[in-house]
Amino acid sequence: MKIGIPTEIRSGETRVAATPETVKKLRASGAQVMIQAGAGQASNYLDDAYATAGAQLVPTAADLYAQADVVLKVQAPASDERAWLRPGQVVIGMLNPFDAEGLSALAAAGVTAFALEAAPRITRAQSLDVLSSQANIAGYKAVLLAANAYGRFLPMLMTAAGTVKAARVVVLGAGVAGLQAIATAKRLGAVVEASDVRPAAKEQIESLGARFIDVPFETDEEREIAQGVGGYARPMPAAWMARQAGLVAERCKQADIVITTALIPGRPAPVLVSEDTVKAMKPGSVIVDLAVERGGNCPLSRPDQVVVAHGVTLIGHTNLPAMVGADASALYARNVLDFLKLILDKEGALAIQREDEIVAACMVADANRVTRSA
Ligand code: NAD
Repeated sequence: MKIGIPTEIRSGETRVAATPETVKKLRASGAQVMIQAGAGQASNYLDDAYATAGAQLVPTAADLYAQADVVLKVQAPASDERAWLRPGQVVIGMLNPFDAEGLSALAAAGVTAFALEAAPRITRAQSLDVLSSQANIAGYKAVLLAANAYGRFLPMLMTAAGTVKAARVVVLGAGVAGLQAIATAKRLGAVVEASDVRPAAKEQIESLGARFIDVPFETDEEREIAQGVGGYARPMPAAWMARQAGLVAERCKQADIVITTALIPGRPAPVLVSEDTVKAMKPGSVIVDLAVERGGNCPLSRPDQVVVAHGVTLIGHTNLPAMVGADASALYARNVLDFLKLILDKEGALAIQREDEIVAACMVADANRVTRSA
């Protein structure tokens, strides 16, 4: 059984799907490991370290795909990479389970593909939860980017030259990324408030020392939808969204930094910060829109661009985990390793436990069929 790790080719991607630490563990489990030369370089994992851990270095991606039984990826294979896939090969990565076209292409290539983002949010799946491991990093980095772009301090300072007020940070969406953004902004000394649709988020927000922006429910329907499903939010009724927009606009006017992270699986991101709200914000304030790739929580943010509109800087980087490449890779590689335990036997040979709840949920293509409805 040969496990192969190619270099990621998407522009700006620094991450790699295995680190010397996980290679060593895979080798100990009996599997052979091949890695494309230079695959870990952008996240500072060097070829020598992989070789010491027991990996065989392979010069090109074509060589690697030609030999590997299992390919470990970060990003879904681009069309150039799909040309190298072989029928029967197993591909594991963040394969965009809602991208119907991408899944069809994987099915057409004849591979058995596992999209780790599709893992159920159950306790047993926590150690392989790539959405959590990477969103945590995105939430942290979002605050650092905002702090960098903001022309003032975040903490309150009392100096001989006078007092500096603490920055006010608003976080919209308090899932994994939002909660880490709250924690990071608090550590930097900001005054933080946050909103989420799910009632469970209130306690989590408050336990981090932030204020919960409460949008009270007015009907049983609103209360029921807000519970979400499987830990995820559902689209809220228009009346609730309108009341939330009013409150968010009020809070954003007072804010110096707004971090938006609100997502609903498989749907465009909800619009939470309108252009009118941006117009009413203070000059020099900063918005980081982590939902930009899915349409954005603010209609003015642009993917992979920093734009200034109405005096507000909008940061729309789509791949924040890649900016913390070493740790993002380390955590992702451990997620992948934990998933591999479900499809390898004790000798390191392929033994896909198809009836396993996590394996079944992650499998997106098999035997030339898409096995998940996107
Ligand atoms: P996500 O990235 O899908 O969405 C981010 C946040 O946006 C969510 O908290 C969501 O409720 C919120 N949101 C959606 N619409 C909104 C709106 N109109 N206004 C404000 N907020 C809105 O979510 P996520 O970060 O992946 O996490 C969702 C939940 O799953 C969290 O409670 C998290 O703790 C939980 N979780 C559980 C496990 C587990 O048990 N294994 C693992 C990871 C996460």
